[in-house]
Amino acid sequence: MTFHNYALHLLCRATKGLGNRLETVTDSPGTPAVRLRPEILATAPYRQGKPAPAEAYKLSSNENPFPPIPAVVEAIAAMSVNRYPDAAATLLSERLAERFGVSRGEVHVGSGSVSILAQFIQAAAGPGDEVLYSWRSFEAYPGLVTVAGATSIRIPNLPDHRHDLAAMAAAVTDRTRVAIVCTPNNPTGSIVTAEEFAAFMAAVPGDLLVLLDEAYVEFVTDPAAVNGRDVLGRYPNLVVLRTFSKAYGLAGLRVGYAIGPERILDAARATAIPLSVTEPAQRAALAALDHEEELLERVAVLAARRDDVFEAVRAQGWPVPRSQANFLWFATGADTEAANDIFLAHGIVGRVLLPEGIRISIGEAESVEKLLAASAEVVEKLPGVLTGPTLD
Ligand SMILES: *Cc1c(COP(=O)(O)O)cnc(C)c1O
Repeated sequence: MTFHNYALHLLCRATKGLGNRLETVTDSPGTPAVRLRPEILATAPYRQGKPAPAEAYKLSSNENPFPPIPAVVEAIAAMSVNRYPDAAATLLSERLAERFGVSRGEVHVGSGSVSILAQFIQAAAGPGDEVLYSWRSFEAYPGLVTVAGATSIRIPNLPDHRHDLAAMAAAVTDRTRVAIVCTPNNPTGSIVTAEEFAAFMAAVPGDLLVLLDEAYVEFVTDPAAVNGRDVLGRYPNLVVLRTFSKAYGLAGLRVGYAIGPERILDAARATAIPLSVTEPAQRAALAALDHEEELLERVAVLAARRDDVFEAVRAQGWPVPRSQANFLWFATGADTEAANDIFLAHGIVGRVLLPEGIRISIGEAESVEKLLAASAEVVEKLPGVLTGPTLD
């Protein structure tokens, strides 16, 4: 059974079970249950990482540990929220267009890049269509595809946790409408190189929408990595997605953007819920760009901290893949829950992604010592976590 068939089989089993339940579980006895889409009933609502207990470090959402700079706080405080925001995010779109050397129509601002991802998937794929991505990758992808009514095709990562782009290209069918390339990949931190990306784009049909999800691009220090900025305009089927949530520290305000061909962006705009990018979010993003140098210095601190933690856990024997993002991937497999208990006991709250492992964000400087003490204890108590692929 292919993975795809297996997934369908599981979905059918799950929905059959739900179907039975629907006949019996009703809001009030004697009335039938409200009819809902079975694939939605089978989808778990988004569950946020547990709030970190006091004294613990919340390293579960790849957030920026630095508090907002004063200019951002001032921009937010200055807004009169009795008015609706500028629906076109004009000032921010203009600023981004300037930076990327594109027209304003080639920029689309959304309330976080997750909502923009949803818009592109809805614009391109519906029932019977396929959306292709690597797995494990960003945990939001499967749900967005399901909500659009389309089918996920997940291509397993290579043993070293990188995208298997050749297998992804080979999996494209005439039903494939979107391919998502996530670099650095969440949760493994692995990059796609410029060379690999060029080969992928050459291998897939020109009418297939490719979304390059670059939520962590600002943390990349490897010159071999693909950068959306360099490939924009080269491919009429490519859209680059970025966010202010991670490097720029605006996760709580929800603002991200897409750069790509105007016709494709117009389709996303057509699916968007109007006025969802708030004025404080637009103003804060502009303030962040005004003070970009200061913010990128913080990003450099986090990238250096990431490399230090990476070297330290490798020295402990962990087969952690080299990360170019602001997190590290601990492929704890069958030991995931036991390993997580040890991390929690040390005050380290990571993101458990069953059944494969735990993603731990690079946070405050003070969190590093606790993280390394925890990872050392995991190795000591659960030596099985050290078995893994050979990594560079
Ligand atoms: C965090 C993240 C995003 C962006 O999230 P928003 O806060 O909605 O902008 C997008 N893609 C990936 C892979 C992420 O990890």
